[in-house]
Amino acid sequence: MKHVADPTHPRYRSLLMRAKIEEAVKAGLLADSALIAHGRGEAFDYLLGERTSESAMQATKEAAARLMAAEHPIISFNGNTVALAAEELLKCAAVMGADVEINIFYRTEERMRLLISSVSKTKESLKHEAPDGFSADEWSRMVESVRILGGEPDGLIPGLEGPRANCHSEGILSADVLLVPLEDGDRCEALVAMGAEVIVIDLNPISRSARMASVTVVDELTRFALNLYEEMKKPGKPDDDWNNQAILDAAVNSVTFTEQ
Ligand code: ATP
Repeated sequence: MKHVADPTHPRYRSLLMRAKIEEAVKAGLLADSALIAHGRGEAFDYLLGERTSESAMQATKEAAARLMAAEHPIISFNGNTVALAAEELLKCAAVMGADVEINIFYRTEERMRLLISSVSKTKESLKHEAPDGFSADEWSRMVESVRILGGEPDGLIPGLEGPRANCHSEGILSADVLLVPLEDGDRCEALVAMGAEVIVIDLNPISRSARMASVTVVDELTRFALNLYEEMKKPGKPDDDWNNQAILDAAVNSVTFTEQ
């Protein structure tokens, strides 16, 4: 995707992402409130210097370790995740052997249909783009094995009311490690209560999701997805003494109001 702004503009990347969200709203993939959620993220990213901090990188390494060690990892996609990072996260899903489950706050059948179709198209084209280190056949098989769940939920997340509780018994309900970018606080709490390890990506270090998660990566989603892919090539072991509060404290301390 291109943007009218000059690519040398210091905020070009940010403008491009904003345009992706705008376009997805226009195409009916996202509710209008998606723009507000994105704007909140932009504001935090601005204050965090629009870069991956050391503590965010540490949390990304822990996320890679846990996802690669998981028996049944699942990546949950909400609408903004589809608009911003579907390709990069599908790549990660292929490498870690995860399925993807689409799960949105304002669930309508039409929006779900559009999101599933968009992710399926991205998956289809990704199959033909083997990255370094994989043969074309091997990569195609790995991508093909990523299932796109969400269309026919047959289970409920315990403790949640309404359509956002819908989920798949072979997906979110049976995951041991869940990657939930841009999750809402309520759902995050319910997922943790189910007993899964929950990895959250959220630029707001004091959101309820950030505070509830087992591992919180306080970073912008598209930067995280690229870093995760690299870290998954050389995963460490999960840290049994992981101190998530220390990561949140470090993120709060890196917020700055000085000129960047
Ligand atoms: P909670 O319910 O967890 O307290 P909230 O009500 O703020 O959170 P939403 O408005 O549903 O949650 O979600 C938006 C969250 O996602 C915000 O915390 C925002 O900072 C974060 N966010 C938005 N865009 C991005 C992005 N591209 N990368 C990372 N985080 C993002």
